[in-house]
Amino acid sequence: MIDKYKTPLEEECDHIEKITYCVALRRSSLAETLSKMQQHLILSIFLASFLKICTGADWCYQSQHTCATPCNGPEKWDHANIACGGRVQSPINIVHRKTLPDERLTPFQFKQYQDSFEGLIKNNGHSVQVSVPHEAYVFGGDLETPYKAVQFHLHWGKNGGPGSEHTIDGEQYPMELHIVHMKQQHSNLGDALKDPSGVAVLGFFYEESLSANRKYDPIVKALQSISTTGTQTSLSAVSLEQLIPPQQNLTNYYRYKGSLTTPNCTESVVWTVFEKPIPLSRDQLRVFSDLQFKDGKNMVGTFRPVQPLNGRVVYRSGGAVVLASAALLVASVATVMGLSQPN
Ligand SMILES: [Zn+2]
Repeated sequence: MIDKYKTPLEEECDHIEKITYCVALRRSSLAETLSKMQQHLILSIFLASFLKICTGADWCYQSQHTCATPCNGPEKWDHANIACGGRVQSPINIVHRKTLPDERLTPFQFKQYQDSFEGLIKNNGHSVQVSVPHEAYVFGGDLETPYKAVQFHLHWGKNGGPGSEHTIDGEQYPMELHIVHMKQQHSNLGDALKDPSGVAVLGFFYEESLSANRKYDPIVKALQSISTTGTQTSLSAVSLEQLIPPQQNLTNYYRYKGSLTTPNCTESVVWTVFEKPIPLSRDQLRVFSDLQFKDGKNMVGTFRPVQPLNGRVVYRSGGAVVLASAALLVASVATVMGLSQPN
């Protein structure tokens, strides 16, 4: 059998495993002296932990996987959640020149996005998530129906380094915001996920800016109180509108069919990824790395690697703009030629 190429981390893990095996061998003679009952107990504990690993109860990001604390990284998510190995997974790398302009991708209408609310902001062990009252909704942009906002959360790197989930022409931004919406007819996300187009996620990139973005002060401040996994605090009044770029800068976006980017990776998401990034200073970006995973380590690298397109087409807005300018050109030529002058 040919050994597959091993990464330095895997080699190191192998080495540690060998030592552990030797220690285990030495201990085995001792184990023989244990009573049958004790052996059964050990076996059950072993089985319980084995099952826990194999059922994917504890999925993790690549950044969390170490020999000392092995966990189910993105390449193993499909063991427990078949959908994670599906053919229309997210995120993806968007290659701009391969995207198709689509005139149906008109500007979005954001309703009640300007309303302030006091949501709960929580460290859920994988990200920071804010629940949103269901009043805010979006329509237009070739969405089948209006979709109401449910929650938003973020994905980031380490201390402001690369950390977005989607990439554009291979470029990874420092952070990505996902505002999760569901079709208005559904009353909870669980139901919406059973509908093949039940969920619409709006994705926004961040870019490092020289000055701080004061509209993010409430979130950045709240992070200090939720560094430990499982903790939450109330967020002082924020609106969805203040977290995203001004509406006039949101006409350029990409659209494709994909999935949730965390287990269960359900393939019922209509993705919209906006081109215009949100500015945040280096310090503001860094604060997210002070949050902690369940094991107390810094919460960094909270992104899934990009997934294969498998023949999917990514559409881009802007087709209508081209048509509009063509119409304008015809109109102005007609005017110059005196054709449009009334008799
Ligand atoms: Zn997300």
